[in-house]
Order: sequence, then C-alpha cells, then structure tokens
Amino acid sequence: MNTRQKRTLLRLVVTAVLLAIVTQLPLTGVPRLLAYLVPYLIVGYDILYKAGKGLLKRQPFDECLLMAVATLGALALAIYEDGDYLEAIAVMLFYQVGELFQGYAVGRSRRDITGLMDIRPDYANVEQDGQLVRVAPESVAVGTEIVVQPGEKVPLDGVITVGSSQLNTVALTGESLPRNVQPGDAALSGSVNAGGLLRLRTTKAFGESTASKILALVENASSRKSRAEAFITRFARVYTPIVVYAAVALAVLPPLVHQFVLAAEPAWGIWVYRALTFLVISCPCALVISIPLSFFAGLGGASRQGVLIKGSNYLEALAQVGTVVFDKTGTLTKGVFQVTALHPETIDEEELLHLAAHVERFSTHPIAVSLKEAFRHEDDGCTVEDVQEVAGQGVRAQVNGHAVAVGNAKLMQAEGAKWHDCEKTGTIVHVAMDGTYMGHIVIADVIKEHAAAAITALRAQGVRQTVMLTGDSRKVAEDVAGQLGLDACYSELLPADKVAQVEQLLKKQTGESRLAFVGDGINDAPVLARADVGIAMGALGSDAAIEAADVVLMDDDPAKIAVAQRIARRTMRIVHQNIVGSIGVKVLVLALSAVGLANMWAAIFADVGVMVIAVLNAMRALSSGGRLIIKNNGYK
Ligand code: ADP
Ligand code: MG
Repeated sequence: MNTRQKRTLLRLVVTAVLLAIVTQLPLTGVPRLLAYLVPYLIVGYDILYKAGKGLLKRQPFDECLLMAVATLGALALAIYEDGDYLEAIAVMLFYQVGELFQGYAVGRSRRDITGLMDIRPDYANVEQDGQLVRVAPESVAVGTEIVVQPGEKVPLDGVITVGSSQLNTVALTGESLPRNVQPGDAALSGSVNAGGLLRLRTTKAFGESTASKILALVENASSRKSRAEAFITRFARVYTPIVVYAAVALAVLPPLVHQFVLAAEPAWGIWVYRALTFLVISCPCALVISIPLSFFAGLGGASRQGVLIKGSNYLEALAQVGTVVFDKTGTLTKGVFQVTALHPETIDEEELLHLAAHVERFSTHPIAVSLKEAFRHEDDGCTVEDVQEVAGQGVRAQVNGHAVAVGNAKLMQAEGAKWHDCEKTGTIVHVAMDGTYMGHIVIADVIKEHAAAAITALRAQGVRQTVMLTGDSRKVAEDVAGQLGLDACYSELLPADKVAQVEQLLKKQTGESRLAFVGDGINDAPVLARADVGIAMGALGSDAAIEAADVVLMDDDPAKIAVAQRIARRTMRIVHQNIVGSIGVKVLVLALSAVGLANMWAAIFADVGVMVIAVLNAMRALSSGGRLIIKNNGYK
C-alpha cells in the first residue's frame, strides 16, 4: 500500500468510529445534522471536490459526480423528511472502500505482472584495479568486460569470453531447462547464471539489451487498445449521462404523473430516493477497471510463457486467427544449413566454398551464416567489395576484382550464367564468376523439433488453414510442407511476392477470421507488417523483425503460437464474462431500484461487490492454462 492509500484507510477508520459515536448521541435538529456532516466530509471531501471541479470544467459526467449527487441528495432528503443521515454517509464510506480495494488490486497486479518478468538487472560487475565494482548497467559501454557471478542476472547482452556455465532463461523464454554455455556463446541480459563464474564482453548498451527491450515492450503494451477496451471507454462516455438523465426523469416524472394525471399524492420523497439509488448502482467502475486489467493480465500470462504481445489489440486478433502463414527458413526450419554436397564445374571444391563464403561475408541471412561456418578461413587476405544483397535471391560482390554472384536460379538468370539443376534434395546455392557458372553447393536445413506438433496443435484449436511461403526452390518447399502436413505451400517467392500472396489470402478471410504471418524477419519484415498479426522469432530474428512484429516468440519455438492463441482466447472469455456480468447485474439492480425493490444499501453492494468480483476474475487471465507439452516427434 502506498502512502495515499494508507491515508485513505485512516480516513475510513476515523469515519467509521465517528459514525459509531454520532449515532449514539442524543442530538436532534441542526446539531444532529452538523454532527453527521463531520464524518461525511472526512470520508467524502475529495469526491465532492472532484465532482465540483468536473462541473466547472464542463466534463461533469463521471463517477465522482454520481456519488456526490447521490449522497448530497440523500442528505437533503433526510433533512427534508427528518429521516436518517446514516445511509448517505455509508454510501460514501463504502464507495471509498471499493475505490481503495480497486486501487490496491490494480497496483498489486501490475507489480505482480511486471515482477513476473523479473529480468530488470540492477547492477553490473566491472573489474577496476583488480577489484570487482558494482556499477549501474546504464553506465557500461559496449565492449566492456563484465563479470557475472553464480546466481546473478546477466545485466547486458554480451559474448562469453571466459568460463562455462548454465544460463537460466526461464524469465525470457519460458524455457525452464537451463542452457549450457561456453566461451564464444551469446548471453542475453535477463537470464540468470546458474553455474560457474562467467566473464563477458558486452555487445549492446543497456537500452538496446534484451532485458530493457522486453520491459519496454511490456510497459508499452497497454497503450495499444483492443476493441473491447475502446468499447468500454465509449460506453462509459455515453452511459453515464444517460443514467443521470434517467435518474432525473425517475425523480420528476412519476410524481408529476401522480399529481396531475392520477390526481393522487405526488410522493416526491419516494421517487427522489429511487432516483438517487439508481445513480449509485449505475457507477461504471467495475467495467472501466476490470477490462484493461484483464488484458494486462493476459499479456503478463503470455510473457510468462516467453510470448511477447505488443498490445491488447493483437491479443484480441490472435484469438480470432483462422489462417496461419509460415515462412520456411528460420521459422519452420532451424535455418542452420549443413553443406551436403559441393559440385564445382572448373575449380576445386575448396575454391567454390571459398568464393561463396567471401561473398557472404557481410550477410546475416541464415544461408550466409552457414556457409561462413563451413569455410572458416575468412582472413586469407582476399578483398571483398561492392557487396550487394538481392533479397530473396542472393548476394553479389567483387572478390579480388572478380564479379562473383552467389544465390538461387533467379540470380543466375540475371547474371546470364549457364546454371544447371542438381538431383540432390536441398537448397542449391549457385556460384557464378564474371558471368561464368562455377558450380553449386547443396545445403540442407533441418525442420524444427516442434514444427509438426505446432501445426497439429493449431489445427486442433480450430485454425482452418496453414500455409508456407518460401523463396526456396519448389522441391525443398514441397518436401518440408509434406513432412509437416501443411495445407498449402508457395515457393520461389521474392519478398514482394510474399506480400502479394498474403494479400490474396487476406482477401479470402471470411467473417471474423484473422490471418497471422510467422517469420524470422529476414526478407519478410514487410509481410510481418502486412498481416493482421505478425509473429516474429525473437532469438533468431533480426531487430527489424522484432520491431515490425506484433507478437514475438522469445525462444523461436513455433509451438508457442498455439500457446499464445489459447492465452488470447482465455483472456477474451474473461473480458466477455466481465462485460456481460457487470452490465447484466447493473441493469437488473437498476430495474429493481426503479420500481422500489432495491434500496441504497443494495445499491452500494451491487456497485462495490460487482467491481470486486470483476477485478478478481480479471486476475485469472494471468494464470493462463499451463504449458503446452510437446513430445519430440522425431524430426531432428
Ligand atoms: P525463405 O522464404 O525460405 O525464408 P528467403 O526469402 O530468405 O527464404 O530466401 C529465398 C532464397 O533466396 C533462398 O532459398 C536462397 O536460394 C536465396 N538467397 C537469399 N539470400 C541469400 C544469400 N545471402 N545467399 C545465398 N542465397 C540466398
Ligand atoms: Mg526467411
């Protein structure tokens, strides 16, 4: 509890004690009124103040005004009829109790949810004059050597220089098995050193490190509103004035009808009382608080599983996804290629690999990374200049003054080189020098372990269509699509063709069905942005992908798409329960109060009680239905 909440609590206690005393005093008339006004003002002065301020600013229709009018009205009625003041003060008292609970619950859950992602690093250990010194992680420059002791959080992204250990990445990826690391491996900030002492050289500044980025994502997520939230805001805006006018009508019309039409007793007191009760019930805070809280809890529950969702609008869309389109390389396959054959024309095998690796020197494409891995003698003094990467085709560069092109058939076509196909299955990387065909390298990728299970799980959840798009050759594409049991696959696509294909599929969506595109962001960032929901691989993917995507899978596991959809659907169910439940109860009690079957006490319990239940229900979205357990299905 913060100090403001403590002060409110104190006011509540003082009010309750004063009320207990005042009700026992043998006072009448004006002294009795004054005695009751003391606890009333103590508990309600801020509400009255805010209501007055709202009136002056001409934005009067908020819950403070509802409460101010209701309680002042009840007091006035009690003075007029010489009745009981207690009710009016109790309404204010319980309203404040409700506000206090709500403020506490919201603050608590926000802390819980952010605390879940217990990844904010507090300090970094830097060696100065042979001593370890704790410094603020913000102050550590890129390239600094830092020390991470056993049990400590990795404060900045870096590469391990000394030591081997296990890193626990559960807070980042939802993966509870620690990862073995050794010198040369990357260490992400926010993971915890579960083994021996590590030294790392930082590769990113604090603000650019994984932990900071994730925290920023989660904190900004609540600014992108879902339709349900927008609905509630609009609803509250029209609903409150309607209720106020309805209350006025309820107070005025029936007595007038009684007096002038039925020529009976107008009974003003009864109808004014009913109108005031009506105002208390109608307070919309249960919705206004619980809907955003449900979404926030859903986003928190997802990040606990290593799925970052950038806003509640995407959570809403994810729940409705009926078509999932996958990129191949790096998404369904690991993107780690092994060279399976070298077929040179006129040069020898080593030279062929050498040429390819040099041209790929500056590329981050998975093919490039793999070729560089296969040929490790990068530093042989060759000059590589004028590098030009052609998305979806390959790379051109000047190697020792020769124009070398490395890529697929399309690129060879453009080079005018007489390429020929290969009988081997795999991705064929052709090499041409000065327009002459030099041969090709066959490389093969492996399907991710959970890819087939991911497709099965999505289908079981009612996803109607799974599609694969790839820039790779038809043979490889059909092989992968067949193994995974995808509904359709389109191959040999350039990045622009992928966008066109997704647009076609978007047109075919019917009703509420949404389309998700899953990619690693290499050559597919435009599609990520175009799809209803763009899902990117966070660990493998490029920074551009994480930027362009709406959902980021921290551990690159396609199976998490199904997990994310389950969480999204559960959150939406909770949101709908809260909307229907709160509005339903309110309408019911409003109707009862209009005909005089619910008094002020029922009203305040309906208001505060519904709010408490809605907030507790919202918190359920956080514990979103366990983990998806997937057995290794044999693909390795
Ligand atoms: P995918 O759609 O499967 O993710 P990309 O669109 O990234 O594939 O690439 C499509 C094709 O373009 C690759 O299969 C490859 O033949 C070729 N290609 C792209 N980038 C490179 C590169 N850096 N080196 C060699 N070939 C490349
Ligand atoms: Mg790709």
